[in-house]
Amino acid sequence: MQATPQPRRDGRDVSSQRDAREDAIWMALALDEARQALERGEVPVGAVVVRDGEVLARAGNEREARQDPTAHAEVLALRAAAAASGRWRLNDASLYVTLEPCAMCAGALVLARVAHVVFAAADLKAGAVESVFAIPTDVRLNHRVSVTSGVAADEATALLQKFFSRRR
Ligand SMILES: [Zn+2]
Repeated sequence: MQATPQPRRDGRDVSSQRDAREDAIWMALALDEARQALERGEVPVGAVVVRDGEVLARAGNEREARQDPTAHAEVLALRAAAAASGRWRLNDASLYVTLEPCAMCAGALVLARVAHVVFAAADLKAGAVESVFAIPTDVRLNHRVSVTSGVAADEATALLQKFFSRRR
């Protein structure tokens, strides 16, 4: 007898543990990108775009290296994913990121028609997915991105704390 799928807190109806396992695997790659960003002296944020069980693109924050205020991991990963797939619509892709996306990146997720975003640590000061704004799920926009939050949040937070404690 099969168990009845339980709706999750984020509203996604998930019938198995497969998603949680996959989420952990892809988030581990995003955390790798964040660690590499930390080594380069960047705020440690990493992102991975996945489609059909394959990585389309991965990137870390490069704001310092490029001296570009928009060179957030999510934007770099979305651009690379669109380039890799030869089309700007990423409507069957998921983006994994170690920190809750800001307003720019949350907007970019909507523009790219991404299906799903998974983030690790919440950003209570600038997060635009759940914390300060909720852009991906705003019904006034023409596309909605479903959301999973808190995957590997402790690891992502520890990396960010390492970066900010070094600066003090
Ligand atoms: Zn951003």
